[in-house]
Amino acid sequence: MIKPEAVAAGNMGKILDMIINGGFKVIALKYTRLSRQEAGSFYEVHKERPFYGELVDYMASGPIVVAILEKDNAMEDFRKLIGATDPAQAAEGTIRKNFAESKAKNAVHGSDSDENAALEGDFFFSGRERF
Ligand code: ADP
Ligand code: MG
Repeated sequence: MIKPEAVAAGNMGKILDMIINGGFKVIALKYTRLSRQEAGSFYEVHKERPFYGELVDYMASGPIVVAILEKDNAMEDFRKLIGATDPAQAAEGTIRKNFAESKAKNAVHGSDSDENAALEGDFFFSGRERF
């Protein structure tokens, strides 16, 4: 996902370009907005963390871009491309280093396992939206 502040700042094209140039194939792509309820359920795993309410409000605050990406070793390679959660810790040349505003508003989301990638893909896309 390209998160609301990165879309609002006009960075969706540059971020998609880095993803495609990084060797990822776009299987599905959508411009959409989460309700608070949907954002809450997407981030259910973080329910007990102190920033959960802030995260849900933020993720529902504006339109986002969501995608399913394919590549050998996709999950790990995508985490490498986006960089650390906190942009202050993110390596040079990563998406978060280039575009994140803060640890909370950090430009992009990446799945943390192949299993969660499949669940998150099913959250946003039907079969006929995948290529
Ligand atoms: P990642 O997105 O790198 O997998 P996490 O899964 O730990 O990171 O956290 C999910 C999201 O919650 C982060 O991308 C960020 O938007 C937000 N977040 C994480 N830690 C904090 C924090 N300490 N304060 C505010 N927001 C946070
Ligand atoms: Mg995570």
